[in-house]
Amino acid sequence: MTTEPVLLWFRRDLRLTDNAAVMAAVQSGRPVIPVFILDEVTPGEWAVGGASRWWLHHSLESLGGSLRALGSDLVLRRGAIETELPKLVRETKAAEVHVGEPTEPWARRVVGELAKTLPVHRHRTAMLFGPDAIRTGSGTPYSVFTPFANACRASYRAHTLAKAPEAITPAQMPRGDRLAEWGLLPTHPDWAAGFRATHQPGEAGALKQVAKFLPGLAGYDVGRNLPGKEGTSRLSAHLAWGEISPDSMWAAAEQQGAEPGVKAWITELLWREFSTHLLWHAPSMPDTPLKPAFAAFPFRHDAKALQAWQQGRTGIPIVDAGMRQLWTTGWMHNRVRMITASFLIKHLLIDWREGEKWFWDKLVDADLAANSASWQWVAGCGADAAPFFRVFNPVLQGGKFDPDGGYVRRYVPELAAVSDRYVHAPWTAPSPPSGYPKPIVDLAFG
Ligand code: FAD
Repeated sequence: MTTEPVLLWFRRDLRLTDNAAVMAAVQSGRPVIPVFILDEVTPGEWAVGGASRWWLHHSLESLGGSLRALGSDLVLRRGAIETELPKLVRETKAAEVHVGEPTEPWARRVVGELAKTLPVHRHRTAMLFGPDAIRTGSGTPYSVFTPFANACRASYRAHTLAKAPEAITPAQMPRGDRLAEWGLLPTHPDWAAGFRATHQPGEAGALKQVAKFLPGLAGYDVGRNLPGKEGTSRLSAHLAWGEISPDSMWAAAEQQGAEPGVKAWITELLWREFSTHLLWHAPSMPDTPLKPAFAAFPFRHDAKALQAWQQGRTGIPIVDAGMRQLWTTGWMHNRVRMITASFLIKHLLIDWREGEKWFWDKLVDADLAANSASWQWVAGCGADAAPFFRVFNPVLQGGKFDPDGGYVRRYVPELAAVSDRYVHAPWTAPSPPSGYPKPIVDLAFG
């Protein structure tokens, strides 16, 4: 009699190290069938966006290579998980399915339904805590960050990080697609040159980035605000795709000591947890303001202004630099994400959901929880949000956080010859640069 296999279903945990689903599948002692299902149907408008598809291609390539080195493979299937997973279980006669706990509302709903009839085991693979593990003393979810973060710090228990398996029991693999057939990479035009120069997707790339970042962690609390410097970890896409475990990041940070930089960085990991906590308790967060009073906010419809913002041609240097960094590299510095988002909502008075959708498509680290929570935070309609009347002045922000204009000049070459004094407000220069637009909005009005 042959032993029934287990399905090891990878989702947003594309790694072998410290992955509870991998460990459970390997420790079952059964043959293991690793699978990834590309579902472009169920998530609707939150299907993987363009930049993330580029990342996903390379991350799957990397994971497939690691699995093949262990004598296994990665089976690729495309379709609605609702139909693909039961099909896979039937075809392989799998005894169990091991998967990371899904937190996107659509995946959570479908996996919850599937688990009623299939032997699905959900593991904590992508977050520090279960999505519903942290609650207030009275048992309600948190809506304010600081007490949430304090509760996380108080209840976090480090566990021994699991090493990647040295072997995976081979199995008879079902039919799978070829990755190249999925067309996740751009063809004509190839817009990903800047992505390739900036990122190395996959578990090995994540470890490299960690090694590069950790020695400077002590200065993170200061460096994190300067977009012209490499003061942040740039691990967001690796974390969003689960190529590195957040527990291993917490442990690595703590080993660096107790400087303010370490504390500040762990706080950012907890913002990530907080966003997921919010999404878990408010599944409509990507589409609906958490504060109901904002539901009828009279946003403007201005296709021309929206396009200028998307293309980095608003005439406001720090906004344009950020939007062009996003376009060319698939990533944008956090300070500039806040400035560009604030500009769209509070100067152009355009609906935050337009910006949220653009970021979703253009970010390699697009994460449903972090993206929607952050957009709502800037718009003032989210949990614990900045008040609506708090408006970032992009000229003052530019002068403060990019004082020598290095960041702006890198992404807006039209400003290369403008002196430091005018680089964040070139329209005030005695001879404004030609070829760079005038501001599309009067900043005094915001
Ligand atoms: P670091 O400063 O090194 O932070 C470490 C990690 O903490 C990050 O990699 C990320 O996983 C997490 N983190 C940091 N800040 C936040 C935050 N405010 N909320 C949630 N997690 C955080 N982050 C995403 O991962 N995906 C998104 O889709 C996303 N959309 C955003 C949209 C807007 C409008 C704004 C203002 C912020 C958004 N962020 C998002 C949060 C933040 O900008 C990025 O996580 C950060 O810039 C990534 O760079 P880093 O890895 O160098 O961050």
